[in-house]
Amino acid sequence: MSRVFQVGGRAIEASRIFCVGKNFRKHIKELGDEDSEQPVIFMKPVSCIVLPQEKIALPRHGTCLHHEVELVVLIGQGGSNISESAARSHIAGLSLGVDLTLRDVQTTLKKKGMPWEIAKAFDQSAPLGTFVPLGDSTDLDNISFSCEVSGVLRQEGNSGQMLYPIPYIIKYLSDIWELQPGDLIYTGTPSGVGPLVRGDTIKIAGSGIGEFNWEVF
Ligand code: ZN
Repeated sequence: MSRVFQVGGRAIEASRIFCVGKNFRKHIKELGDEDSEQPVIFMKPVSCIVLPQEKIALPRHGTCLHHEVELVVLIGQGGSNISESAARSHIAGLSLGVDLTLRDVQTTLKKKGMPWEIAKAFDQSAPLGTFVPLGDSTDLDNISFSCEVSGVLRQEGNSGQMLYPIPYIIKYLSDIWELQPGDLIYTGTPSGVGPLVRGDTIKIAGSGIGEFNWEVF
């Protein structure tokens, strides 16, 4: 299924979803992991996207579905070998998303050294809000965002706490893949991840971005 985002008067069709793991130190600690010397990158198919008016169904191949609220970057102008100083001009807009993760499945895969796809890239694993255009005054290093589950605050973070800031992530990805308009980047989650159960509502909000809600059934 194609997904088209309206941002700044443009319609941009989703191309690929890149995700950054281990980008906030307190979250790395809560998982009992170590910092990595380079960004941890994985991908999800575009078919995983869940828009705000849609519902999240609990997957059946795991028992511990965790929320990870993340700032999401939409690439508007593609390119290879993009410098950190030029990275900003490649961004069309910002939103928030949830990198839904089957933590029990991921823990097993990590122990075995196996790929993470079935823990991270299953159907409906990428709830995603609507995009706001990147304004001249947007400070990429000072965007706060949060996640509430059924009225209880679970996660709070700020892009200034990222181990790999957004311009660096764009540079890093574009040295490996030629970025395309419509590429989405989930930029990593702060601490406070936790389980979702049937009947929960999830609300994510960010400064200058807005607020988005889903129900889990
Ligand atoms: Zn994540």
